[in-house]
Amino acid sequence: MSDDKPVIKKIRSTGAMRALMAAYFSELNEAAKTDSAKVAWCTSVGPAELLRSFGFQVYFPENHGALLGSSRMAADLIPAATAAGYSPEICSYLTSDVGAYLNKTTPLSRAFGIEAVPKPDVLVYNTNQCRDVQDWLAFYQREFDVPLIGIETPRSISHLSREMIDGLIAQYTALTPTLQEISGTSFDLDRLKKVMASSYRCTMQWKKVLRIAEKQPSPITFFDGTIHMGPAVVLRGDERAERYYETLLTELNERVNSGVGAVDDEAHRLYWEGMPVWGKLRDNAEQFAANKACVVASTYCNSWIFEDLANDNPFEGMARAYSALFIVRSEEYKERYITAMAADYDIDGFIYHNAKTCPNNSNCNYGMHRRLTDKLGIPHVVIDGDLNDLRLYSEEQARTQFEALIEQLEDSAA
Ligand code: SF4
Repeated sequence: MSDDKPVIKKIRSTGAMRALMAAYFSELNEAAKTDSAKVAWCTSVGPAELLRSFGFQVYFPENHGALLGSSRMAADLIPAATAAGYSPEICSYLTSDVGAYLNKTTPLSRAFGIEAVPKPDVLVYNTNQCRDVQDWLAFYQREFDVPLIGIETPRSISHLSREMIDGLIAQYTALTPTLQEISGTSFDLDRLKKVMASSYRCTMQWKKVLRIAEKQPSPITFFDGTIHMGPAVVLRGDERAERYYETLLTELNERVNSGVGAVDDEAHRLYWEGMPVWGKLRDNAEQFAANKACVVASTYCNSWIFEDLANDNPFEGMARAYSALFIVRSEEYKERYITAMAADYDIDGFIYHNAKTCPNNSNCNYGMHRRLTDKLGIPHVVIDGDLNDLRLYSEEQARTQFEALIEQLEDSAA
């Protein structure tokens, strides 16, 4: 494997994205300080559209968790959460975020000049992704003494039955009286439909961004995607996110039209299964680029594509969108999904990240990696690591595994 340090190509639109994220955090900060708007904390695939329709400023603790990871602050903060009784084996977003709170620190200060995360008026979860999110927000319920409400979604879903959808619609509907009371705003169906329509347009733009990586060479990598997904996560339902993706798409289309790939001389096209290693994004990106390998697709970045939001009944749209996503589905569904992605993106190899503190986003613990390689004839490697806790990531092991995959691909091409 080559050790040459390649230049990671800058995406010009990154400046516009950072400006948008700065505006988002500044508005949140202002709302929390002046009470000009109520602040809702929401899990990343929670009912953000419903909250926005009531005029809440919406803050996502998982986004903060990712910032703690990418700023490499996490490993120093996790011990504070451990000392408070949170196991180092549970979600390291949770433990680093709780640790940051207990240490009164945040990466938002350095990035956006914000002193502290905005205090919540309400905490809203959806257990579609895991139970950790509920326990995470329960910590803050005890700290801030504000209501904790949410949706409990079934997991390992093969088929979304009518009965299941109706049960979920009832849960979404049941949130409205509390949200109405806290926001001081009456529920308005037309406003919700408007937010849903914007969120849907945003999600479809984001899908176009990810799908452009089907082109050869791909103008974007998975590592770029983890950065540029920010607006789709925290600002879906806000028209500024849609406009941002128009800008990004224009730039990516320019690359396609002039045959410019994100990785020079792209020779291998890889799929990343599982969470990013936030503190190693750049290192990982450089390792692959140095070997003419482009990670063109991932399960993770695709998790913010919610096609089911397009529904005449917005409650049904949310119920379907937030229970149809990959993480909520059965093993058979996941295998079909990855099989289709491998064909669409012309994948040569799979990388499975076994994130030790997130079994929910690690799909190599029940044999799926072996089954897919046998079925598709596409090689894979597994790296052991973590989303945030770099004490669980071995640079050496990851490098050896990446090298093994590249060598295998080069041997089969020779
Ligand atoms: S899905 Fe994983 S990373 Fe996300 S909140 Fe749950 S345990 Fe943490």
